[in-house]
Amino acid sequence: MKYIGAHVSASGGVFNAPLNAMNIGAKAFALFTKNQRQWVAKPYDNETIKKFKDNLALSKIEPKHVLPHDSYLINLGHPDIQKREKSLNAFCDEIKRCELLGLEKLNFHPGSHLKLISEEECLDAIANSLNEAIKATNSVCLVIENTAGQGSNLGYKFEHLAHIINKVEDKARVGVCIDTCHMFTAGYDIRNEEVYEKTWEEFEKIVGFKYLQGMHINDSKPDLGSRVDRHDSIGKGKIGLKAFELIMNDKRMDDIPLILETIDDSIWKEEIKLLYSLIKK
Ligand SMILES: [Zn+2]
Ligand SMILES: [Zn+2]
Repeated sequence: MKYIGAHVSASGGVFNAPLNAMNIGAKAFALFTKNQRQWVAKPYDNETIKKFKDNLALSKIEPKHVLPHDSYLINLGHPDIQKREKSLNAFCDEIKRCELLGLEKLNFHPGSHLKLISEEECLDAIANSLNEAIKATNSVCLVIENTAGQGSNLGYKFEHLAHIINKVEDKARVGVCIDTCHMFTAGYDIRNEEVYEKTWEEFEKIVGFKYLQGMHINDSKPDLGSRVDRHDSIGKGKIGLKAFELIMNDKRMDDIPLILETIDDSIWKEEIKLLYSLIKK
């Protein structure tokens, strides 16, 4: 079964996110557990936690179908040790927020070398950060997102994801989230059955479906291999509807959160309906 949703707003409090998901007919959702553009936020009080859990129960969405996204400020592979430390602390705070809310996954962008260290050094630093974060917390699967490879962002090759996973000691605490826009602009084609199968075969060989903990379902404004990160509404971009039909009918994407991050949130409800309608009975 497919669990489709969107990255909904948590403005006014994290407890509003499950309600926002319900309102668009979502069976999954993503959220920021704090303001994503600030380093620190005040801790949750007990009432916030209770309200979140109550609303989540009301939405009938299971914790495993919720995919929180970390702050854009965090760079776990930062070349400067002090700045990396600051990122690690903020990351651990986010993991603990997920734990308090009873959530199981945290989605993050691997990191950037900022052209100051090599790709390999940066990937090693990211893996080290993850090992530290895992030691400092109790649960939550750390879900690495593939990127478009814009600027000096790593994670645009399946090999990058595999490199990090290989160096994480507790494999039960690590997973990946594949963003279709990022994969496409990083050069992985999925527009017809033949290339779709080839791309996912490569994914299975290099990373493995056992690590796939979620997906971001986005069409793309830029072309294949452009390394530019610009999402588009489903069926309206350069990827096109066929790829999403293939995903909706692919059992390997069952039982994980499939999250829209498309540009027009006023049509998310219709996009979710559209995606469900692509499933062949
Ligand atoms: Zn992301
Ligand atoms: Zn994404």
